[in-house]
Amino acid sequence: MSISKGVAIVTGASRGIGRAIALRLAHDGYALAINDIPSNLPMLNSVKAEIESITYGGQKTKALSITADVREEEQVKAMVEQTVKDLGSVDVMVANAGILQAMTPMVDTPSKDFDQTFAVNVRGVFFCYKYAAKQMIAQHQQRGGAAGGNIIGASSAVAKQASPGFAAYSASKWAVRGLTQASALELAPYGIRVNAYAPGYIDTKMVEELSTGHKREHKQFLAEESQNVPLGHMGTPEDVANLVSFLVSDKASYITGQSMSVNGGFFFD
Ligand code: NAD
Repeated sequence: MSISKGVAIVTGASRGIGRAIALRLAHDGYALAINDIPSNLPMLNSVKAEIESITYGGQKTKALSITADVREEEQVKAMVEQTVKDLGSVDVMVANAGILQAMTPMVDTPSKDFDQTFAVNVRGVFFCYKYAAKQMIAQHQQRGGAAGGNIIGASSAVAKQASPGFAAYSASKWAVRGLTQASALELAPYGIRVNAYAPGYIDTKMVEELSTGHKREHKQFLAEESQNVPLGHMGTPEDVANLVSFLVSDKASYITGQSMSVNGGFFFD
């Protein structure tokens, strides 16, 4: 008999916040389907190996690498179907994949960059929510109302207090909050909770690439930006993973539709 807590999908999991969430959910007892774009397959497979080395209740954790571009509806649908076929169900969907383009004033933002940001950060999250929800609703019905599920999206602090230079990104992360609220209302009758994380700066490759755009050394960028954070340092991917671990647990059973800040106190809702 399986003692796994269920099955979680995490998109954009080859590095950064997605990787940390996948590892944390594996430690929590979930089998994992981890996703990224095809060019990141080697990194994704090394995360898969890390997950498979984790034991829960004396059993090795199952993991599956699935390459898919979340901008493509058919690929997201296929990712959910493959997860069900190989691991048995989808109990948690973490729509983490996202992009941040170089800082650009709103008036200089090309429409193709705006569209690209929305394609990954909003369309991609929407497809993940949609196909995870369809599967979770079917599971709820198959198990006579005994099954629910958790859907989590990647929002951002700039979805609550926008920053200059990030018009498209801020707007896309703001859209995730709307999608999360509407989905939470529609899916509550099926016992499916839908929440998002809204981090401040988290020290990942995304932020490293941003610091290059600011023409500052990564270390200098971290030191200077940390001065705006009351807790005095940037967040880590594990800080976000801890929040996700809580949100998908029964301890968060009365929380839905929220986009929860994890930002060291630099912005209050
Ligand atoms: P990251 O750039 O390190 O990792 C993002 C991952 O998503 C990459 O592995 C990338 O290949 C993948 N990805 C991109 N486009 C994809 C696509 N079309 N299909 C599938 N995978 C795709 O970023 P991160 O810092 O780990 O951020 C993770 C999420 O958290 C993002 O949505 C980001 O916007 C959000 N976020 C990050 C921060 C931060 O400070 N790092 C703050 C707030 C929100």
